[in-house]
Amino acid sequence: MPASVLSRKSGSPASAAKPKKIGKMVYFFGGGKAEGDESMKNLLGGKGANLAEMAGHGALRLPVPPGFTITTEVCTYYWQNRRSYPKGLRDLVDNNLRRVEKLTGKVFGDAKNPLLVSVRSGARKSMPGMMETILNVGLTEKTIPGMVEQTKNERFVYDAYRRLIMMYSDVVMEKAAGIEPAEGMGIRKQLEGIMDEVKERMGYKSDTDLTAQDLKVICSRFKDKVLETFGKPFPDEPLAQLWGSIGAVFASWMGKRAISYRRIEGIPEEWGTAVNVQSMVFGNMGEDSATGVGFTRNPGTGDNHFYGEYLVNAQGEDVVAGIRTPAPINEDSRSEQSKHLQSLQQIMPETYEQLFDIRNRLEKHYRDMLDIEFTIERGTLYMLQCRVGKRNGPSAVRIALDMLQEKLIKKEEAVARVTPAQLDELLHPIVDPKAEAATKPIAKGLPAGPGGAKGMIVFTAQDAVNWAKQGKKVILVREETNPEDVEGMRAAQAILTARGGMTSHAALVARGWGKCCVVGCGALEIDVHQKTVSGAGEILREGDWLTLNGSKGLVYKGELPMRDADEGNKELSEFLKVCNAVRKLGVRANADTPEDAARARRFGAEGIGLFRIEHMFYGKGSEAPLFKLRKMIVSKTLEERRRALDELFPHMKADIKATLKAMHDLPVTIRTIDPPLHEFVPHEAEKLKELAQSLNIGLDELEKRAANLRESNPMMGHRGVRLGITYPEVTEMQARAIFESAAELQKEGIKSLPEIMIPVVCNEAELKHQFELVAKVHREVTRAMRVKAIPHLVGTMIEIPRACLVACKLAEVAQFFSFGTNDLTQMGFGFSRDDTGAFMGDYIEKKILAADPFQTIDQQGIGQLIEMGVQRGRKARKDLKIGICGEHGGEPASVEFCHRTGFTYVSCSPFRVPIAILAAAQAATKGKKK
Ligand code: PEP
Ligand code: MG
Repeated sequence: MPASVLSRKSGSPASAAKPKKIGKMVYFFGGGKAEGDESMKNLLGGKGANLAEMAGHGALRLPVPPGFTITTEVCTYYWQNRRSYPKGLRDLVDNNLRRVEKLTGKVFGDAKNPLLVSVRSGARKSMPGMMETILNVGLTEKTIPGMVEQTKNERFVYDAYRRLIMMYSDVVMEKAAGIEPAEGMGIRKQLEGIMDEVKERMGYKSDTDLTAQDLKVICSRFKDKVLETFGKPFPDEPLAQLWGSIGAVFASWMGKRAISYRRIEGIPEEWGTAVNVQSMVFGNMGEDSATGVGFTRNPGTGDNHFYGEYLVNAQGEDVVAGIRTPAPINEDSRSEQSKHLQSLQQIMPETYEQLFDIRNRLEKHYRDMLDIEFTIERGTLYMLQCRVGKRNGPSAVRIALDMLQEKLIKKEEAVARVTPAQLDELLHPIVDPKAEAATKPIAKGLPAGPGGAKGMIVFTAQDAVNWAKQGKKVILVREETNPEDVEGMRAAQAILTARGGMTSHAALVARGWGKCCVVGCGALEIDVHQKTVSGAGEILREGDWLTLNGSKGLVYKGELPMRDADEGNKELSEFLKVCNAVRKLGVRANADTPEDAARARRFGAEGIGLFRIEHMFYGKGSEAPLFKLRKMIVSKTLEERRRALDELFPHMKADIKATLKAMHDLPVTIRTIDPPLHEFVPHEAEKLKELAQSLNIGLDELEKRAANLRESNPMMGHRGVRLGITYPEVTEMQARAIFESAAELQKEGIKSLPEIMIPVVCNEAELKHQFELVAKVHREVTRAMRVKAIPHLVGTMIEIPRACLVACKLAEVAQFFSFGTNDLTQMGFGFSRDDTGAFMGDYIEKKILAADPFQTIDQQGIGQLIEMGVQRGRKARKDLKIGICGEHGGEPASVEFCHRTGFTYVSCSPFRVPIAILAAAQAATKGKKK
């Protein structure tokens, strides 16, 4: 626990950090009043703040059992001061207990009419089941007879007593005391053993068969066991029980479960938990009592129907424990399992009406879907909890749209109600979450392509294609992928690689297609020759089934059930319209084919931010152009190269023209060839022979030429603009393909807006050189084709740190900037973008880095370079158009950063366009709030 302010071991502050001055320590609620309210979650925790709101807000004043909340500041004090309480707390608790007594007419510790309380935790953010609760506090030898007299139910009282002893000894006397018994030897287990023994001796099947007499015996044996185990008795004094419970709740903030949950959820240790002390109400007092949970709308579908379940004569824990099948509260909540059961509406119509009215008032007041807990004690309804309800993606969108239409919320709020992850659920099939929860993954890698997929393992791209042709679903498992695998990647349901990071070839391609993909799964050993993949002690062979969760990077053995993507895209597009009305930042797509361009347009992209010319040499139909490109690459003389370029030209023009056409009226940023050329040189003997023949040279000569192209550091080698400098004819040919396409479209009456982008630039002379070539070709094409000037822009990518430093100079030439944050991150960090799989997992786990900088912009470091680039660029050219086309362009936190930094647009793969639209809208609303 580095830099902990709440050090457990020493029980004292870890540093000399000045303790914060503590404010009001206890907040009362009940009797139509409350000292706190919903806005005070930081101080009162979520549960305490909402109890106060329900109990005390004028529009609600709901029947909440009275109680009080001890603040999170007290928790922090407790941990900073050797587990002691601030001065005056005891008096405050006493005073507030008196107020509860006054409202309930009962007295804590009284022999005749005793008050019992619950003591529950409640942090700012819900941490389900991670901290402790103790019920029935206040039951002692002295108060038991009074309770029996009051309830006329001896069995009920002893059942409550045995629950108290169990919970208290487990939570307070064992866990909070730091005792860690051997597996299965904990006090709770031992007490359960005693109960089972009695049940067995008496021939009972269930706890409910136990009589009052049995329970009395059990309680007495429980107390003996507690004394024997801890060497001290179960406290028989109400205040001792109360303070033991309060301390245990504070202690549970530093319990193992809570600590690991916080680590996963990123909840700071400094927050602390509040403690809620509340008078008990009982749903297990007979047939006129019940307990239940509900949602103000259906959390699974978003339907505007009250939804919930309940149990007659039961306590809250019975509903959760799943021993009895809960009944539906109304017809809308009926399921297959509960169709034969009577609803609350049927058996207690008046109470149901009251609950329904509360549901309506709560929704109107909170203006959100809530999750509630209630108890009915002898016909009287009590509200025990309410909080904003968790929901899945489709229902989040539905609820946001409905509430906007119902005028409960404004556009900005509707936008804030759906998280990017929830929106993503609408776009991809996913692994059934229930099945996933019950299955252990065999490996974990990086979540490179969203959604879930299942299929049979194949180890080569060719097998993927062949098997898919036979109608089989396959997952392509590779050490890593390269451009030659693209056909197989396309044919596969999903891709799994053992190496590579978030911007590796596999990740980039899969994301572009919206295909499920897990990369950098270092724990897997792939043997392509034996056709096996092993991990976690499992050896899987070709044809075995795998299931992947590409959103989390998890790999499962076998076939897990899937849940289809929600095809109800009407709601998605309606929701995106709302986002569009709110956002300021433009959203474009990275697309390389007319099909992708059209898809991006359907998803709402306002142009293409990156068309990678070289992608025409991968995948379907790429054989012919690739062959010609290869010829060009291994050409030795200018003449040879020009001949190859002439052959390549018609392919390139057709490709560019089709995309410009698909994106008519919208800008298309076309980047000149970027990757190092040797990537395209074939390896197979057959292909090399063919190429040598077509160039009329021997194989030896070809191999020599290919060897000359090899570089020891290709990412920083002869690529990008450098190719255009050494081979100006290559840039000219691309510019010609663009301008001729645009001119032809102009003649067909189709408006195109090409933006020519030069990659990997680090100084303005490079840019000037290329711009002059482009301008020359523009003049030639307009003259030759007899068209007026072709509207276009010429700009540069900013992907080398030096380019950020000299952005001022670059902007004197460039008409736009597009940040290539994949390379900028690579060169800024000095991390090879294709090799992070080997160490990134450790970097994150050991907290060397908070996040993978290839997934989300490193705002602290690379962010500075970007800000500098933006500021310096705009200094030279005020209206400079600035975009981003690295993989970060579709990642919500990075989109927000781009909004803040003054970008014109972000560009991402087509499937991420809706996410970027949402993130841009959310960034705009956040900006407003500030
Ligand atoms: C980049 O570097 O961010 C970029 C978009 O270019 P590429 O990924 O093609 O290198
Ligand atoms: Mg790049």
